[in-house]
Amino acid sequence: MFIWTQDQSLLLQSVEELAKKELAPKAEHLDETEGFNEAAFRAIGAMGLFGITAGEKYGGSALGSLEASLVMEKLGEACASTTLSYLAHSMLCVNNLHENASDAQREKYLPSLITGEKIGGMAMTEPQAGSDSLGQKTRAEKKGGKFILNGTKMFITNGTIGDVFVVYARTGEGRKDLSTFIVEKGMPGFRVGKKLKKMGMRASPTSELIFDNCEVPAENLVGNLNDSVSHMMKNLNIERITIAGISVGIASSCLAYASKYAQDRLQFGHPISSYQMIQERLAEMATNLDAGRALVYAAARAYDGGARELSLGAKAKLFTAQMATKAGLDAIQILGGYGYMKEYPVERYMRDAKLMEIGAGTNEVMRIIIAKELADGRTS
Ligand SMILES: Cc1cc2nc3c(=O)[nH]c(=O)nc-3n(C[C@H](O)[C@H](O)[C@H](O)COP(=O)(O)OP(=O)(O)OC[C@H]3O[C@@H](n4cnc5c(N)ncnc54)[C@H](O)[C@@H]3O)c2cc1C
Repeated sequence: MFIWTQDQSLLLQSVEELAKKELAPKAEHLDETEGFNEAAFRAIGAMGLFGITAGEKYGGSALGSLEASLVMEKLGEACASTTLSYLAHSMLCVNNLHENASDAQREKYLPSLITGEKIGGMAMTEPQAGSDSLGQKTRAEKKGGKFILNGTKMFITNGTIGDVFVVYARTGEGRKDLSTFIVEKGMPGFRVGKKLKKMGMRASPTSELIFDNCEVPAENLVGNLNDSVSHMMKNLNIERITIAGISVGIASSCLAYASKYAQDRLQFGHPISSYQMIQERLAEMATNLDAGRALVYAAARAYDGGARELSLGAKAKLFTAQMATKAGLDAIQILGGYGYMKEYPVERYMRDAKLMEIGAGTNEVMRIIIAKELADGRTS
């Protein structure tokens, strides 16, 4: 149904092979043990995917959000949580620095993040500031040649394994007076808080980050003082579009597993796929999946064509997140009692999918963005 260029087809094929070889076989075990698939992560890096949207001069592949979304989809089909860690590294950290950092900062940080020598993340959320991202309380004060950071960040993907974090902190009294800093593991006063136990996405480590008089060199301020809102805005569109790729990947696996199961499972002497109520559920899943794909690809193409102010990315994230959770629930229903068991992957798909409705902006926040655009008389 979807037509790709030769390069995009090759990318899809090679990422699918990697996902089947490196991610899929370990997904269940790592979900159970809350481990991290470091070997797969390194393999993703070795394919040049860590800097998928970054410039070639830093070792990146200089591709667009469409290719990045396709990679998320294919990896997400195999192991959504390893893909979430990949997203935090490649989009929230690498793409963010590529968009917003100075040449000197890019030259210092991007090459080692793109080879995978260093792992990255982004720290915005705080215990008391989630959807209200401008309510962040972590403070940064300039003292001599350093900024001193104090505060706690919450729910940070790659927190326990990261070496380099893009961190937002308050540098003034106005709500928008937030600045962006590059913080490295080992900087005095920086430590990782407790690793958080999660319902899903369990192979993606999430933790608190604590800044206790953390000393950050002044040259690690990204851009100008109080410039974070523009940094966030520059990165948010691509974050939403590419995370929607993970939702598509999860829903695709739900459909593939449930469809095959329905053909194999006999009840009353016939495959359950011959019953119209099962057919209806599968047909709805397939239709929503392709509608989700079409929306993500359209949002990505608009972004890659230069559009920045559109709510299409928010719509893609909202639609695919809801679609993925529903696909997980539908797949469980089609498998019946087996769907509820840990030996079958669909309950994991559903648990992983639920995060898509919360992370990178909740469904409600996506609706607020879309409604605001409507109220402003703008359309996608
Ligand atoms: C596994 C995981 C990984 C994450 N990774 C990262 C990361 O790497 N970096 C990072 O910075 N953050 C990360 N986050 C944080 C994530 O972005 C936040 O959880 C999310 O933005 C929601 O914030 P909150 O959890 O504080 O919920 P809250 O903002 O407290 O929201 C609670 C509920 O209220 C609703 N709500 C809030 N405001 C409104 C409103 N105005 N109107 C209607 N409803 C509203 C929300 O939609 C939600 O349903 C991660 C979270 C998780 C769970």
